[in-house]
Order: sequence, then C-alpha cells, then structure tokens
Amino acid sequence: MPPVPRDGFGREIDYLRISLTDHCNLRCVYCMPLAGNHYAPSPDLLTAAEIEAVARAAVAVGFRKFRLTGGEPTLRADLVEIVERLAGVAGVHDLAMTTNGVRLPGLAPRLAAAGLKRINVHLDSLDAARVARVMRWGTLAEIWAGIEAAEAAGLRPIKLNAVVVRRFNEEDVVPLAALTLERDWHVRFVETMPLGRGEVAAVARAGLVPSAESRTWIEAALGPLLPLPPTDPADESRNYRLPGGRGVVGFISPVSEPYCATCNRMRLTAEGRFHLCLLRDDEIDVRGALRAGAELDAIGRLLLRAVGSKPTGHRLDLGHSTEAREMYQIGG
Ligand code: SAM
Ligand code: SF4
Repeated sequence: MPPVPRDGFGREIDYLRISLTDHCNLRCVYCMPLAGNHYAPSPDLLTAAEIEAVARAAVAVGFRKFRLTGGEPTLRADLVEIVERLAGVAGVHDLAMTTNGVRLPGLAPRLAAAGLKRINVHLDSLDAARVARVMRWGTLAEIWAGIEAAEAAGLRPIKLNAVVVRRFNEEDVVPLAALTLERDWHVRFVETMPLGRGEVAAVARAGLVPSAESRTWIEAALGPLLPLPPTDPADESRNYRLPGGRGVVGFISPVSEPYCATCNRMRLTAEGRFHLCLLRDDEIDVRGALRAGAELDAIGRLLLRAVGSKPTGHRLDLGHSTEAREMYQIGG
C-alpha cells in the first residue's frame, strides 16, 4: 500500500469527500438560498466513470477514506452505480455518505447492497414546524423515515448531524441529544459556518451558537457529558456520552475550536475540481485532465499537487471565508 500523502504542514491527507451534485431537495437557511442559485450545467458534472477514475488515482497515491456528499447526493440518478464502482476499487477502506435522508426509504437497501458502509443523516430538529423553518423543504416525517430505512438496511452506526442556529432551533439541542439515551446513534451538533457572500452566510454568522453553549444546555437538562477518548485523531467531532446513554453526543466546532491542525481532507466538487480547504476558494481542476485522456498516474499527480497546496487552515477569525462558493456547491 502506498504511504499516506502529507501536505506542506506535515498533515496526513487520506480522506476524499466527493460531491455528486450541487442540486438539493431542501433549502437549509444557512446553506442554500431559496432563489438565485447557480448550478453547474449537467455536462460539466463528473460522470460515474470519471468519479471512479479519480478514486482509483486517489487510492494509488495513498487515500483510504471516501465520502459522497452534495448538494444532495441521493438526487444523482446513478448514485447506486457510483457506490458500486467505488466499493469495487481495491483500497477504498471506508465508503460513507452524507445526506438529508429524504430519499433513503427507497434507496437505503440498494445502497447497502452496492457496498455503502455508513451514512450521516442531517436533521436539525425533532419538531415538524421547526424542520420546516430551518430546512424549509422536506418534512420531519420524510427524514425520520429515511433514518429508519438506513438503520434497517444495516448502514450503522447511524450518525445524525444537527446544525445549531440561534433563534431557529436552540430548543432542539436537548431533545436531539436525548436520542442517544435510548439509541446507539451518534448525534453531532455542528456550528454554523459562513460560506459565500449572500444571505445564507449572513444567517450562519448571526446564528452561530458556540458548542460550549450547546454543551451547557445538554448538561443542565440531561447530566454531565462524559468525554470519550478520541479513536481517530482526524475526527472533527469531540465526543461524549450521557450518563446511562447508549449513543454518542458529538460537537463539531470549526469556529470556536478549529481543528485545522488535524485536517485530513481533500474535496472534489461535482464539476471536477479539487477544493483544497472547505472555507477557502483555492481549487485545482481535474475534469479537464480526465477529459483530455490523462492516465491515472497523471490524475494522481494532480491530486498530490492539490495536497501539497493545501492552506494551513481557514481564516474565519479574520472575517474571511469563501467568496466563490456556498456550502451546497462544495459538500461540507
Ligand atoms: N445534503 C446533505 C446533507 O445535508 O447532509 C449533504 C450536503 S450538506 C452541504 C453536508 C453537511 O453540511 C450537512 O450535514 C449540514 O449539516 C452541513 N452544513 C451545511 N451548511 C452548513 C453551514 N453553513 N455551516 C455548518 N454546516 C453546514
Ligand atoms: Fe441541502 Fe444539505 Fe444544504 Fe440542507 S445542508 S440545503 S440538505 S445541501
């Protein structure tokens, strides 16, 4: 097996997050505006075969972990084929997906059969009216059915991502954390990050709830959060267990407790560009090389160049973020 590539700061980068589309069937207030979105034209999206080629090149230069994201990855008509292709690449050790869950009832068994290992479902509230306010399209009932379908299909452990937004869903932090008392699920609370220059970035800035505050609410209601030892140094979630709880309560705190020093990620946008740091605009095109007939080792060299060019980290503390892209165009 090739050694894991290191970036210019000595970080081991072995995790590729692949965005399959910039379309979504929801419109979360901190991610996707209701109108004025810019979508890549369909011919610009990487095909299933091109995605497989990038994954093969990535494994050959030392990548091990892969995640499908979006936009909403389940909107890709060829999602099952993409999973099958990636699961068939020797050296892909971990294949997961992040989704809003709405389309999982029909898809989960087929995804599991195709080789998907794990799934993260995004759910910001356990209250139907607040789901409608924060996630705007889609319903709590649909997302919940998706979570149950994923669990029934064996896509375990179930991880839920909840973005905490001030004045939108603070009331949900405690009930969401309480899910881990009865279930072996991981419920992770995510701080809002501003991406782009539009209204969703403004919501993310104004809505930031530092994880320390969410922790306080949970402890006041449910008892002390018992820290769990990190199992993976690159896990961006700081994990705890509630007294008597079966699952895990996690906090992803890119703003208040940045984890750039242990970043292990590279991102591939739906239209085939390596995006070097979530919260910056630096990108390297790979689609052009793929469509010009580049061999896998040339794609691997491009990926190593992207790894070598990764910036140290984000600059949210200085008020800088992406200008060219919003979250739905990168994939979180
Ligand atoms: N549509 C899928 C979903 O919602 O899970 C996958 C793509 S979405 C961009 C990936 C993750 O990004 C979501 O789980 C959501 O929690 C998170 N997210 C989106 N916008 C965010 C923002 N502005 N700040 C923090 N997290 C955000
Ligand atoms: Fe869609 Fe996911 Fe963005 Fe929500 S967070 S709008 S579900 S891409």
